[in-house]
Parts: sequence; structure tokens; C-alpha cells
Amino acid sequence: MVLPAPLSGAAGADGTMALHFGFDNSYARLPARFHAKQPPTQVTRPAAIRVNAALAAELGLDAEALASPEGTAIFAGNHVPDGAEPLAAAYAGHQFGHFVPQLGDGRAILLGEVVGPDGTRRDIQLKGSGPTPFSRSGDGRAALGPVLREYMVSEAMAALGIPTTRALAAVTTGETVYRQEMLPGAVFTRVAASHIRCGTFQYFAARQDTEALRLLADHVIARHYPHAAHGKQPYRAMLEAVVARQADLIARWLLVGFIHGVMNTDNMSVAGETIDYGPCAFMDAYDPATVFSSIDHHGRYAYANQPSIAHWNLVRLAEAMLALLGETEAAAIETAKAALSGFAPHFKAAYDAGLCRKLGLEPGEAGNALAQDLLERMTANAADFTLTFRALAADAEGAATARTLFADPAAFDGWAEGWRAALAAGPLAAPQAAACMRAVNPAVIPRNHMVEDAIAAAVNRADFAPFATMLAVLADPFSDHPTHPRHMAPPQDSERVLHTFCGT
Ligand code: AMP
Ligand code: MG
Repeated sequence: MVLPAPLSGAAGADGTMALHFGFDNSYARLPARFHAKQPPTQVTRPAAIRVNAALAAELGLDAEALASPEGTAIFAGNHVPDGAEPLAAAYAGHQFGHFVPQLGDGRAILLGEVVGPDGTRRDIQLKGSGPTPFSRSGDGRAALGPVLREYMVSEAMAALGIPTTRALAAVTTGETVYRQEMLPGAVFTRVAASHIRCGTFQYFAARQDTEALRLLADHVIARHYPHAAHGKQPYRAMLEAVVARQADLIARWLLVGFIHGVMNTDNMSVAGETIDYGPCAFMDAYDPATVFSSIDHHGRYAYANQPSIAHWNLVRLAEAMLALLGETEAAAIETAKAALSGFAPHFKAAYDAGLCRKLGLEPGEAGNALAQDLLERMTANAADFTLTFRALAADAEGAATARTLFADPAAFDGWAEGWRAALAAGPLAAPQAAACMRAVNPAVIPRNHMVEDAIAAAVNRADFAPFATMLAVLADPFSDHPTHPRHMAPPQDSERVLHTFCGT
């Protein structure tokens, strides 16, 4: 897929900025049953909140032009830019284990795809831009709170080096949305490698539309897994690649304490990016059973369940792809099983190696055992996940800070002796080990109470300063931020947030 370099923000003869995205919309070219062509619905009083200048540059777009009234009109859905082909994508999905044969973009509209200066193709999608044929009883809108939450958390994930959809812009609409209460409306502009979900495959499998499945898989291979096209079994290679990317992604989530909260198959990207930030949250005190989502009554999507749920979702993807995986059903099932068997070892390797790195140790059995022992002691002692690992870097250089994070500091001491011995036996001198640990153990994460704080200021007082401060601090998570002590600290008891909401 070759594209001329997109022109952006070229000043016209009258001095106004004309925004050129240089769209090339490969998904829109798929057959009509893949989507519903649907322009966004206009809003009354759009106002810019934020444009992500760094991301705009990555996309080859002019941030200044995007921040102009024309850019705001585009991000609000009031102006469809040249070359956009707005559409709502069709997909299905298992929601909390129950199959829904038709979901689709009920409040999101894909404007189109752009290819950045680095050759990367990405979707630009408006979320909260009005109803679509997939809205069912929903209003197609988004409230300001969830928009700001997705902005902060997805950008924090990107800064942590975790594959994720991104935030290009947020605007308010000047309109009210009705949830349990009246809330200010907003539109979020999301950038993604694509918006193709496990549930997109399930949509066509449920309709026994093998031709569409093949077109979809070919599209996914061309876009995300071009190497898969070259082998004897491209669809098997694609499935294996999705399995590997998801295993790697979930390991990265666990290593920073991230809980997605609603890992339905429609919220799992085949490109391997974190997508659909709803009731997501980072845990403070380490506890594998942590659940925040108010609708996750049985803890299906608890922190420690995420690997097995990802595997379950991938089994659903493999089932949906069966028609592509073998001449006979039996052969296809064998192929699917073989591809899925890659999940557990891939996840374990990524997770174990990541934990060893967090401890400043070489990957290996000794480091794994130390890590598991530490995690058990952290659970029993309500030790803060982020601060404990961050403090270990200081401890490696002789400080004694991590122990103070344990309800019973002796529980830490009982572990630390073995860890110090392992560090001393390792190849790195203490300062180098500490530097390596600081590079993988963040000092700041989007702590839930701080996220809620920033949202409350914006929603209740139209004060976006806390939101801006959050973005500034979270953009640099591996540095200490002594001028922002609240952003680095766990919640006080009175600040603790126990439940998060989808807000849809
Ligand atoms: P989510 O919980 O955001 O993953 O959404 C699940 C499904 O509900 C998707 O099909 C969404 O498009 C749809 N949906 C969520 N919120 C709304 C809304 N306010 N209006 C219409 N559809 C919605
Ligand atoms: Mg979703």
C-alpha cells in the first residue's frame, strides 16, 4: 500500500490553514457488509481541550493546524475532512462470556487511515460522535469523564512502552449527555494500528461468511503481519502472530499493575494493542485478586485472570477462523490447537523475564523464584506494587526504603537477603543494576484517585489544569517527579477508589 507523503497544515493563499490528512482508507474499500458508511453528527458548541502535538508529528500532521478552529470542528465531528470516508465497523463479541452476534461501532466513527512519515498506517477514529446503525439503544455519545480517562491512561501506557491505541485529541461538545446524571459531552479522537477485533472475525464466522473471513484475514496479514503472507499457511501464521502479540501484551500489563477491566472479545485488538479503555485501572497495593470494574461482579477480569482470559479470547478467535485453517474440520482444529499452544510459553517467558528485569537480575529460575516469593510477601503486606519495585533500585545501592512499604518490614527483610546475594552474584555493579531497574520500574503510573481527581476538576469546575499536569507527569514515567509528590504517592485511605465505571 503506497501513498504519497501527506501534506498537512499547508497555509492557503488567504493565510488560513487547510488541513490535509492524506487519507488512504483500506478498510472502507472492503465490501459493504464490513461496515456502515456513517458521517458524524454535528454538535452545537465544540471547544478544544487538547491536541497531542507529539502524536500529530508522528502521523505527519501539523499540530498547530489541528489546534485551529478547523481542527476542532473536525475532532467534534462538525467537519468531515477531505479524503475521510466515515464509517462504523461491524463486529460481534463475547461480553462477559456471552456471545452477542452483532455489536459494532455504536458510538465511534472511523474517519480513515493515514500513513505517517515512518510508513506506519494508522486509523483515526472519533469516539462519541453520534449514533450509527450499531447504536442499539445507545445515544452514540461519550461523557467528558471517560474521554479524559482514556486520554490519560492510554497516553500513560504509551509512555510506559506498552502497545496501545493513542489519544490524538479531545474536545467538548457543549451538549449534555444523560447517564445516571447529566454530564458534559465530549468527543475523543483515537489513533490505532487498526480497530479490528477478535470480535470482527466472530461477526463473520457467526454468519458463516467464509469469503468475508478470508478478506478480513488477508487485510489483517497485509496490515499487521506481512511476514505471514510468505509461508505455506498464512492464516495459521497470522493466528500464531496474534497469539504471540497478545501474550506479550498481557505480560506487559501485569508488569505495571494494569487491569483492563472489560476484556470482552470485542475489546481485544488483533494488532495486539491495548484498546477500549473503560473501567481500566492500575492497582496500588499488590493483590492478584484486584478488580475495580463495578460491573465485574465475579472478578472475571481480575488482575491475575488476565492471561487466562486473553487465552480464552484467542480460542474464540481461532474458532472463528476455523474455516481458514484446514481442509477438514479435524485438520483445522489441530492447526488451531497448535497455534494456541504458543500462548502459555510465550506469556511465561515474557512475564518471567520482565519480573527478573524489575529485580535487576538476569532472566532465569533463581530470579523467577525470588520474584514469586516477593509478590507473595507483597500481597500479605499490602505493599504498593509501583513503589516497591521503584524502591528496590534505591535498595540495590544500599538504601533501605522498600521495607517501609510492607505492613511488616521484617517480611521484606526475610526476602531481601536472598535478593542482595543474587544481585551481588550477577554481572552488574550496584549502580548499573539500579539504573537498569529504574528504566523498567516506573515512578509514576496513572493512579486511580489522581485520574478521578483530574476528571472531577474538569467535569465539576471546567478546570483542565489537573488533567494537563497528569499528562505532563505521565509522559515521563521512569523519572522521579519530586515537584509532584501527590502523583507519585499511593492514595490515602480517604482517597482510595474502589470502583470504576464504563461510563458508556
Ligand atoms: P464498550 O463497552 O465501549 O466496549 O462498548 C460495547 C458496545 O456498546 C459497543 O458495540 C459500543 O459501540 C456500544 N456502546 C457503548 N456505549 C454506547 C453509546 N453511548 N451509544 C451507542 N453504543 C454504545
Ligand atoms: Mg468496546
